Amino acid sequence: MQDFLATPIEFLRGVGPQRGEILRSELGITSFGDLLQHFPFRYVDRSHFHTVSELNEELPYVQLRGVVDQVRTVGAKQGRRLVARFTDATGRMDLVWFKGVRWLQGSLKEGEEYIVFGKVSRFKGLPNMAHPEMEPAVAWDRGLESALQPVYSTTEKASARGLNSRGIARLVRTLLQYPELHVPESLNAELVAWLGGTGRQDAFRHVHAPVDDTHLQAAIRRLKFEELFYIQLQLLIQKSLVQREVPGHVFGKVGDLLNTFYAEHLPFEPTNAQKRVVKEVRRDMGSGTQMNRLVQGDVGSGKTLVALLSMLIALDNGFQAAFMAPTEILAHQHFKTLTAMLSGLPVEVRLLTGSTKTAERKSLLTALRSGHIGILVGTHALLEDVVKFERLGLVVIDEQHRFGVAQRARLWAKNRTPPHVLVMTATPIPRTLAMTLYGDLDVSVIDEMPPGRKPVRTVHRYDASRNAVFAFMEDEIAKGRQVYVVYPLIEESEKSDLKDLTDGYESITRRFPLPKYAVSIVHGRMPQKDKDLEMGRFVRGETNILVATTVIEVGVDVPNASVMVIENAERFGLSQLHQLRGRVGRGADQSYCVLMSGDKLSNDARTRLSTMVGTTDGFRIAEVDLQLRGPGDLMGTQQSGLPQLHLADLVHDVELLQQARAAAGRLLDADPRLSLPENAAIRATLRERMKDKAVWGRIS
Ligand code: ADP
Ligand code: MG
Repeated sequence: MQDFLATPIEFLRGVGPQRGEILRSELGITSFGDLLQHFPFRYVDRSHFHTVSELNEELPYVQLRGVVDQVRTVGAKQGRRLVARFTDATGRMDLVWFKGVRWLQGSLKEGEEYIVFGKVSRFKGLPNMAHPEMEPAVAWDRGLESALQPVYSTTEKASARGLNSRGIARLVRTLLQYPELHVPESLNAELVAWLGGTGRQDAFRHVHAPVDDTHLQAAIRRLKFEELFYIQLQLLIQKSLVQREVPGHVFGKVGDLLNTFYAEHLPFEPTNAQKRVVKEVRRDMGSGTQMNRLVQGDVGSGKTLVALLSMLIALDNGFQAAFMAPTEILAHQHFKTLTAMLSGLPVEVRLLTGSTKTAERKSLLTALRSGHIGILVGTHALLEDVVKFERLGLVVIDEQHRFGVAQRARLWAKNRTPPHVLVMTATPIPRTLAMTLYGDLDVSVIDEMPPGRKPVRTVHRYDASRNAVFAFMEDEIAKGRQVYVVYPLIEESEKSDLKDLTDGYESITRRFPLPKYAVSIVHGRMPQKDKDLEMGRFVRGETNILVATTVIEVGVDVPNASVMVIENAERFGLSQLHQLRGRVGRGADQSYCVLMSGDKLSNDARTRLSTMVGTTDGFRIAEVDLQLRGPGDLMGTQQSGLPQLHLADLVHDVELLQQARAAAGRLLDADPRLSLPENAAIRATLRERMKDKAVWGRIS
């Protein structure tokens, strides 16, 4: 019966080879099943008609009933368009087409009554509608099956071939009327009942041709649930497979290094959250199966210490550890931090990045193979095949959203018994995304900041108040504090961005002149040694102000810096702003963040800035970011491993996602191999979905 849904789309009545090709290339619909999965993105209440006299531009898509006449072409060449007059009992408007003019001209019948559907705009004070969907009223009256009319996404090219929303609706209706249509159930009876009893075939029917809103909502919920359920089921199977079948090195010992470090080198008392997370890590690494744990913690929550303590456990048990960072600057910073914290202890820490010199690299790789190096810090250069450890026991990935699932998998392949993996996110991830992207990992949350931190006070100022901002900087500097001034540097507008930065630097040095003040400048275009020099002066407190591009986003730690001024703040994304703000507020003093912007702000920019002013909670900020940008943009679609969703969405379906995950968990607890007869449908659906994946072979 699956076969029927796999039928190539051109065999559907009303399609044929030409439209079949359009459906394939424009909408990705290749089979009957694909057409069923091409869900409406909206519904219009077709029982309701607007009148011309009520029209205004605020209205969404509207439907009117009236007579069309005076069909004519106006303009020439590019401006050529077809215009028709549309009249109902209350007034008239123009209908306008810029494309498909010839075809329409032949088919529109003057004096006939039509139903028109579209978005209204105003031209020279009169309402008009461009490219309305049209249907003769007689045909419409005949075709009306339901008041809720589905609206389908389509493309210009498909529309021009009659595959506009209406055209697609017609095809779906045809498909739904085939007596052979059979959509196999994909859930067990218990879940179907829990979802209100709508079977899969009925759900498709109600989504495409709703009889009323109640049935429609139940159907949407059922289909969304199913999407989310299968994603979670796969993740949980993956996770339990790892736990069941992938062996892990057993780190049973609490050894000398950890004890000595704890007793003599620890610069501060770990927070309870840090202690709890280290305990979770230790339990995982002692369990005999491979650890795959994600540590979520806000900027400044102290993830580095958790990484260090975890690595010491590996070292105490005779293994090596790797610490991987997303950028060279961050790798440098981690290397410095770890070296400093471990000084006096017998641990060899080394750094490997893309710019490590050949000779150094050679000796490093030898020392690594011989087991002389305990901790190797680096960028993704660590993933290269030539990098061979003697006994790699733990990999820490300071992730910053940039290492995808695929890269994590590569780490496994290196060893028979794979290393334990600890992934640390640089900024919090919204719950739904964490559950979807990292659903196969165990999650620890560092939900507590080191003591004595005062939340950074954040304000938004327009460029016009620059003098007041300078005066404020002056006051803070007089108290002995240091100030960051950050400029955006976006590749596409690099030249003008660099000019902004150097102009800014000049006006700051004029306002804060030598010898009373000293100002550093750092940007990505400077040679590394100049960067190090300038940065070093600021870190040592020799300069009062650091003017920089976002190179300081990661890695800089100057507790005496208490002011972060972000120029053109409207151009930064939320997570970047949050990261930047995290550079201050690290000492005991009250810190400040000033978001500078121009007067003209988009709605999104306004929301970003007011969110920053309103909260310092990284999880909250991540949620807003998700709302504004959607999951794909937030995580970087390509390598993020986000699943394709037809109906469900990770912004709004939070609760349903949690329910789906819980249901998948319960199912696997009760029937780990899905071998009970009542779960046959689930097993079959899962096999279909996972047939390309190696994992399937291991459960069946
Ligand atoms: P992140 O989670 O952003 O990686 P870091 O590990 O860089 O945070 O820690 C931020 C700052 O807080 C560092 O200066 C670090 O030394 C300090 N820190 C971390 N843990 C504690 C603690 N328990 N008590 C005091 N300071 C801490
Ligand atoms: Mg960090």
